[in-house]
Amino acid sequence: MCGGRPRPRYVFVFQCPTFLLSPPLSFKLLRVNAEIIAVGSELLTPFRQDTNSLYLTEKLNQLGIEVAFKTIVGDSRKDLVCAARIALSRADILIFMGGIGPTEDDLTREAVAEALEIELRRDPEILSKLEQRFAKRKMKMSPNNAKQADILVGATVLPNVNGTAPGQWLSGKYDGSEKIIMLLPGPPHELRALFEQQCMNRLRAKLPPRFIATRVLKVAMMAESQCDARIAPVYKRYPDVQTTILAGAGEIQLHLRTQAASLEIAEQKIEKLAGEIEDELKDFVFSSNGESLEQIVSYYLQMRNLTLAVAESCTGGLLGQRITSISGSSRYFLGGAIVYSNELKTEFAGVSAEVIAKHGAVSREVAVALAEGIRQRCGANLGVAITGVAGPTGGTEQKPVGLVFHALAGESGTEVIERSFPGDRKRIRWFATQQALDMVRRKLM
Ligand code: ATP
Ligand code: MG
Repeated sequence: MCGGRPRPRYVFVFQCPTFLLSPPLSFKLLRVNAEIIAVGSELLTPFRQDTNSLYLTEKLNQLGIEVAFKTIVGDSRKDLVCAARIALSRADILIFMGGIGPTEDDLTREAVAEALEIELRRDPEILSKLEQRFAKRKMKMSPNNAKQADILVGATVLPNVNGTAPGQWLSGKYDGSEKIIMLLPGPPHELRALFEQQCMNRLRAKLPPRFIATRVLKVAMMAESQCDARIAPVYKRYPDVQTTILAGAGEIQLHLRTQAASLEIAEQKIEKLAGEIEDELKDFVFSSNGESLEQIVSYYLQMRNLTLAVAESCTGGLLGQRITSISGSSRYFLGGAIVYSNELKTEFAGVSAEVIAKHGAVSREVAVALAEGIRQRCGANLGVAITGVAGPTGGTEQKPVGLVFHALAGESGTEVIERSFPGDRKRIRWFATQQALDMVRRKLM
């Protein structure tokens, strides 16, 4: 589609005096969006990942610029021209990264020039610096290196302190709209230094000040559809706040994000929506500042000055691992046992062999006995137990894969929750620890 269509007649107005004199608010748009174009055939293989765009997105967001598109394109001039044309049609800021080195497959300069229908000029100053660099190392510069001195007519050269290929910055009117185009090096350490030293301030000067506020709410043990059904009427009333729902095993993250002319306004908006969502979901929300469930459990146990012990069967220590991933967990976590075999359930957690024989190791009764037994054995205020079928083998009609019993024993008695989790072994085990931690959280709330 790209190659064949009639080419529109674009007018690219370079830094003409009126442009240079225009005030910082030259972008009339309230929202400025960017497209990041990662160049390199290796980025289209399973072996290399485009990590630069994660870094760039964070930096752009700090400036109030939303990334609307990310494109990855191989080292093909035709494809690059196509990607450049598409990006020009839909984004205000285009950031190309990679493909500006000396090798045959470094084609970003040529492709951007073709897409913009402008010429490249060979910059004598850059050329001479490149030659000096080689001479210093007593090496002869091969001719292909010279193309690193090719600059888009009208572009500003951005020195690259960590490499040979300089970046380029071009801003002006394109097809009637303001555009900023950057060509940056691919190697991450070159890109970062160059972007921070050369691009951040240039962007700041061009854009009206915008501030982004974000908030992550975390919800435990709720189905995604149920969660969305409850909160959609709330967040739909805030069209200028972007609400993203990310669902995992036993946890939903609600990412809220908005921008405004001042940080205060942006934060107020986020605060208001977050508050309304919390009112709707009530105690399903366990964190409004991004903390993990084990972190929240840690806060509560310390606040109440209580200790905890665990007896784990199908999770094989995952619950203990999650609890002890929190620094300072020795203040409330005493330890426990991985009681995989029936014998150890009896020996370490005092579960009677008759109960196991009568109800089976995966049962409500054994979960209760495990929680009470480990609580007593460890001398803890709370005992938590998990027993279930993590699969994929070992399921039966009565006790299918995914069936897990969770018990929490305390001074005032023992509660037990039976769940049937979907997914593979890893997911079921994670779900089970999530449920167990959530039981502790809810008890201490
Ligand atoms: P050079 O002068 O080194 O050739 P260049 O600007 O032409 O620089 P590339 O050749 O495209 O950049 O990439 C060089 C290396 O940088 C790649 O092998 C890869 O390791 C890394 N790289 C490139 N693009 C990315 C990216 N988007 N994310 C992470 N790493 C990248
Ligand atoms: Mg290269």
